[in-house]
Amino acid sequence: MSSSKVITALDFSKASDALAFANTIDPNLSRVKVGKELFTRAGPQVVTELSRLGFDVFLDLKFHDIPNTVAAAVTASCELGVWMVNVHASGGQRMMDAAATAVHNAGSDTLLIGVTILTSMTDEDVKGVGYSKSAADQAVDLAVLAAQSGLDGVVCSPQEVPRIQDSVSSIKADFLTVTPGVRPAVKASGSLLASDDQRRTMTPSEAVQNGSDFLVIGRPITQAVNPNEALASILHETRLPGMAGTES
Ligand code: C5P
Repeated sequence: MSSSKVITALDFSKASDALAFANTIDPNLSRVKVGKELFTRAGPQVVTELSRLGFDVFLDLKFHDIPNTVAAAVTASCELGVWMVNVHASGGQRMMDAAATAVHNAGSDTLLIGVTILTSMTDEDVKGVGYSKSAADQAVDLAVLAAQSGLDGVVCSPQEVPRIQDSVSSIKADFLTVTPGVRPAVKASGSLLASDDQRRTMTPSEAVQNGSDFLVIGRPITQAVNPNEALASILHETRLPGMAGTES
């Protein structure tokens, strides 16, 4: 198992592109994430092939359905041997309880993570779906609910990590925070990097300083001119484990 805190989001439309990219990076330097597009196009086979290449796979399908259906999907994910899988915390406590029970009954060590509020959403967006709180307050409340439901951690913005850790520490020790919305301040080439559709962002070093356990990073690595250089520069910036040859 890798010790890297970086999870590269393999947001590719073809299995062949995802596997060709994965072949260029070292499983010791990054775990990988398979999301909705790649999984819908390529199916479980791509997960199996990435595992065979030595990668820890985060299956990011954000299950959100009635408890029985989510539990069955989580069981299938455990059988696929993924390292991490997630559900939407807004599916509620009974749904998350069912998901946690499914992992337990599968005898699996797959990590079960709850999505709080998407890092692409602003306070306005959150109000638009009917929540009265700010994005950050709503994320903290959902993280507490996820901890009470026995989940291993949450997906959240790196900005919310300290508040979430404070709020869940008395409920569950070692509660993990997995943070997308990470944007290096500059590209490996030196130019400023776009935040794309992400809104509640931080740089990799800020995210690690804030206590984030895992950084999910997609386009800044996959669309870099030199992905290995981009990954190495992120590992160097944050002085994360597994940054061979990057000590200064
Ligand atoms: O390219 P970028 O770094 O924005 O990719 C972020 C990845 O993390 C995407 O695959 C996106 O689906 C995922 N993600 C996210 N926000 C969440 C959960 C997952 O951006 N709350």
